[in-house]
Amino acid sequence: HADLARAEQLIAVVPDFPEPGVLFRDIAPLLADAGAFRVCVEALVEPFRGRFDVVAGIEARGFLLAGAAAVATGTGMVPIRKAGKLPRPAASVSYALEYGEAAVEASDDIPAGSRVLVLDDVLATGGTLRASHRLLAELGADVVGSAVLLELEALGGRAVAGDVHTVFTA
Ligand code: IMP
Repeated sequence: HADLARAEQLIAVVPDFPEPGVLFRDIAPLLADAGAFRVCVEALVEPFRGRFDVVAGIEARGFLLAGAAAVATGTGMVPIRKAGKLPRPAASVSYALEYGEAAVEASDDIPAGSRVLVLDDVLATGGTLRASHRLLAELGADVVGSAVLLELEALGGRAVAGDVHTVFTA
C-alpha cells in the first residue's frame, strides 16, 4: 500500500529523547499529513470493524488516534490517563517502570460490557498497554483488541501486552 509506505516515512526518529540512549519515535509529522493520518486510522481499526462500541486512547498521542478512529467508525471514545489528571477517576492500575512505578486511570463513562478497542501510538515494553487492559476490565468493559501504529519489536512488548495489531514495526 503506497499511502501506508509514505506514512511510515513520516514518523520522525529522534536520538536521545527524552533521555540519552533512547531513540524516540515521533508520529507528529504523520498526523500533520491529511492522507497519512487517514490511511493510518483506517489501518488501525481495520481488523476490528463492526466489533467495538468504544475506542480507548492512551495518553497522550493515543488520544489523537482514538478520537479520529471513533469519529471514523461511529463509536465513542474514552481517555486512559496518567495518574492524577482525571477529575472523576473510577479505576486505577499501577504498574512497574524501569525505574519506579506509574499508574493509569479512567472514568466510568461507558456501560458495563461495552466492547472496547484500545489504541496507542507506540508499543514499547508493553507495560502501559497491559495495565490499560486491566483498567478497562476493572470498569467492566470487554476489551476486544488493541492496536498501535508502531511496534518496537526489540523491546518485547508483545510478550507483555498480548496480541496487538500493529501497522508498522521497527
Ligand atoms: P511501554 O514501554 O510500552 O509501556 O510504553 C510507555 C508509553 O510510552 C506508551 O504510551 C508508549 O506509547 C510511549 N512510548 C514509548 N516509547 C515511545 C516512543 O519512542 N515514541 C512515542 N511514544 C513512546
